Amino acid sequence: MKKAFVTKEMVENIVKDFPTPFHIYDEKAIRENARKLKAAFSWNKGYKEYFAVKATPNPTILRILHEEGCGTDCSSYAELLMSEKVGIVGDEIMFSSNDTPAEEFVYARKLGATINLDDYTHVQFLKDTCGIPETISCRYNPGGTFSISTTIMDNPGDAKYGMTKEQLFKAYVELKEAGAKRFGLHSFLASNTVTNEYYPTLAKILFELAVELKNETGIELSFINLSGGIGIPYTPDKEPNDIMAIGEGVRKAFEEVLVPAGLGDLSIFTELGRFMLAPYGHLVTKAIHEKHTHKEYIGVDACAVNLMRPAMYGAYHHITVLGKENEPCDNMYDVTGSLCENNDKFAIDRMLPKIDKGDYLVIHDTGAHGFAMGYNYNGKLKSAELLLQEDGSVKMIRRAETVDDYFATLEGFWKV
Ligand SMILES: *Cc1c(COP(=O)(O)O)cnc(C)c1O
Repeated sequence: MKKAFVTKEMVENIVKDFPTPFHIYDEKAIRENARKLKAAFSWNKGYKEYFAVKATPNPTILRILHEEGCGTDCSSYAELLMSEKVGIVGDEIMFSSNDTPAEEFVYARKLGATINLDDYTHVQFLKDTCGIPETISCRYNPGGTFSISTTIMDNPGDAKYGMTKEQLFKAYVELKEAGAKRFGLHSFLASNTVTNEYYPTLAKILFELAVELKNETGIELSFINLSGGIGIPYTPDKEPNDIMAIGEGVRKAFEEVLVPAGLGDLSIFTELGRFMLAPYGHLVTKAIHEKHTHKEYIGVDACAVNLMRPAMYGAYHHITVLGKENEPCDNMYDVTGSLCENNDKFAIDRMLPKIDKGDYLVIHDTGAHGFAMGYNYNGKLKSAELLLQEDGSVKMIRRAETVDDYFATLEGFWKV
């Protein structure tokens, strides 16, 4: 059972100030989850989470997570600027970019961010653009497929990210020759994993690689960055990951592989996005039309511009009809937005309670990669983002776009 963190009564109050559609985030739950993550890795002295800004690029969210001890994982100029604006700078920024423009490396370097190189050729590129910093990280791609026991989780061999092992070792040697003193290793092999085995499996691969690097080159890593990829159960039948078990699994691999190799001082970093925010955000939208043709449709006032995942990946997002939580799900609907694209459907053939015009729908698990992926197709505008604060009050943390925003780039051509 998935339960919304807002009720019909709460939404009826909120819409007096902020009309639907809007994204709303649950501050208390975000903080509790961040604390749990920290506890799960408290066995590691240098542990730090660098929140993947791309998941929920909002300064208020970054500030809340910073208060809980998180830094930021940035991969663009705008993300660096947002982090800086919130006061997260220096080694609290991990710059895990790829296909990186020179000026972004320059700005990351200026902020003192830890640069995580995606490719061997970027060693020279970085030398040429802004020089090699003392602390530097490299991203690894083992190629092939990535499996846990007999299940294929993903295809690193098809992924554009990271370097091969040979390139990786060569990169560290050259970085050291160029003056680097502290080295990190990063890898991201599978996304949205709903298993407690992903991080421990990845950790073991990276820990063994760290030992091999030490034996072959004498270079000792200072940190290993397990990146993102811990998932959440989007469907109600799945069990959420147990972050304490995940932390314990990584600790076991650490004790087994790194400690005997004399690498027990190494820090563990993470760059989680989805796990930090997804369950703690809702897209709240209103049913504005019902249509009875070859199928039964409910038209809502949000569309794929506000949440792209169903259209882009066919992703499931659970829906709760507020005020009808206990009614039987005996109606089959397609829940649609208004884009002139037939994939603009938040749900297809979904069994839901009977929906009436004016009902408020909560689309679950939109706290990460939700608002963030928004775009302006069909001239549709991005919604507001709201924060349900710990005292129960609601604060706007980003206003909704207006048509003036939409036309703002047509300077000199248009004034609404
Ligand atoms: C997207 C991304 C993350 C976060 O991934 P989640 O699946 O949201 O945990 C972390 N690191 C890098 C480099 C990314 O691109």
